[in-house]
Amino acid sequence: MEIRSPEFRQKSTEALGDVQLQRALGNVKRGFIAKRQKAIDNLPEFEHLRDRAREIKTHTLKHLDLYLEAYERKVAESGGHVHWAASAEDARETILAICQRAGARSVTKGKSMIAEEVALNPCLEVAGIEVVETDLGEYIIQLRNEPPSHIIAPAVHLNKEQVEADFRRVHTELPAERSLEEPVELLNEARAMLRQKYLDAYIGITGANFLIAETGSSIIVTNEGNGDLTQILPKIHIVIASIEKITPTLNDASQILRLLARSATGQDMSVYTTLSTGPRRPGDVDGPEEYHVVLLDNGRSSMLGTEFEDMLRCIRCGACINHCPVYHAIGGHAYGWVYCGPMGAVLTPQLIGVDKAGHLPNASTFCGRCEQVCPMRIPLPKMMRQWREREFERHLIPPAQRTGIGIWAWLAKRPRAYQALTGIAVRMLAMLGRRDGRLRWLPLGGGWTRHRDLPAPEGRTFQAMWRDRMRP
Ligand code: SF4
Repeated sequence: MEIRSPEFRQKSTEALGDVQLQRALGNVKRGFIAKRQKAIDNLPEFEHLRDRAREIKTHTLKHLDLYLEAYERKVAESGGHVHWAASAEDARETILAICQRAGARSVTKGKSMIAEEVALNPCLEVAGIEVVETDLGEYIIQLRNEPPSHIIAPAVHLNKEQVEADFRRVHTELPAERSLEEPVELLNEARAMLRQKYLDAYIGITGANFLIAETGSSIIVTNEGNGDLTQILPKIHIVIASIEKITPTLNDASQILRLLARSATGQDMSVYTTLSTGPRRPGDVDGPEEYHVVLLDNGRSSMLGTEFEDMLRCIRCGACINHCPVYHAIGGHAYGWVYCGPMGAVLTPQLIGVDKAGHLPNASTFCGRCEQVCPMRIPLPKMMRQWREREFERHLIPPAQRTGIGIWAWLAKRPRAYQALTGIAVRMLAMLGRRDGRLRWLPLGGGWTRHRDLPAPEGRTFQAMWRDRMRP
């Protein structure tokens, strides 16, 4: 996917005019928000858990090297292999090499945003390996050759009729007269199509919600059980995860797990929470013969000790996305890369460069809802502002915007000039809106008033009114 400011504007405009997408985004606004609220209302210690989770992750990040090494030792003790991947390319090459050595013709795959980040599927497919997504949402968007539009609900932009049309288009071996009107019928059809794929796959690839340094285990949470079949049935299980997924102990992970599902889907817990530790042992009834973990850095270690370190606490719950008015308006695809919403606006410039993704931290109203709901208390608006500062420092913003900010900075340091000029501006705006008290056009702000009007100021600045009020 290409990501540039003009594409972002164009995709956003298209998204705003897409009636079907707007209807689907309404479900995000209503469903996720209400369910999360209900779940946390039922958990009095929710705020305490947030503090505890932040402490756990902050401590882990301070000692990340030690916990990663401890994790690697434990994985090796349990018979598994850890592969370090400094870049996306390293991760792809490592996984491709494991697949080719095993002679794998097909792999099943659980939902993994890290696999999206490193563009794993195209790499395997070019090498002649069939990749079958087993998460229902991922399966649907794979049929459509689309990227996910949300980190926990990849097909949230689609409606039932679109999915039915895709199933009829692709599952041509099934009777044309079958009924697919009910969601459960769609689910059953996907399940039937995937069953043989699970059995045929030589390798299963999953992500990980947590990697436990104490035991060398990986943990995935799912609602469909597809992750379990993906990692248990094939001969080889590959976990792909980024380094910040490390958590010191099972007890630490269990505390963060109490926040994860509540913040994501409003469930107390996801339906399946599955721990994997190494390959199958003698006496085990199932499990893979080989267990590999590909640990991706891809720029994350360079966030440590910087103003962006807090972002490494993210547990990918999606709550910030679900509460973001910008995401509600344009959906996930407009963001143009793997991560969307506020967490994407902070993470993407780090991963692909602020020169390519600097427009994302600018696509924010700074309403602060993302920080309010983030279970890990990540200061997302502050970090978006820091990206904006970096853009400014590196002369990446358009000259007109730069000049405007320069003028504002000059004025802000000179209170008398600031008050005089804002006084004039406010009086002019009051005149412009004198007919009915609304502004339908703003000098230098035509983009803002193109789709909405604004209440006109009363004719005096806040400071002038405040001075009058304070006067004895
Ligand atoms: S930034 Fe916070 S709210 Fe957003 S996905 Fe990460 S943990 Fe969840």
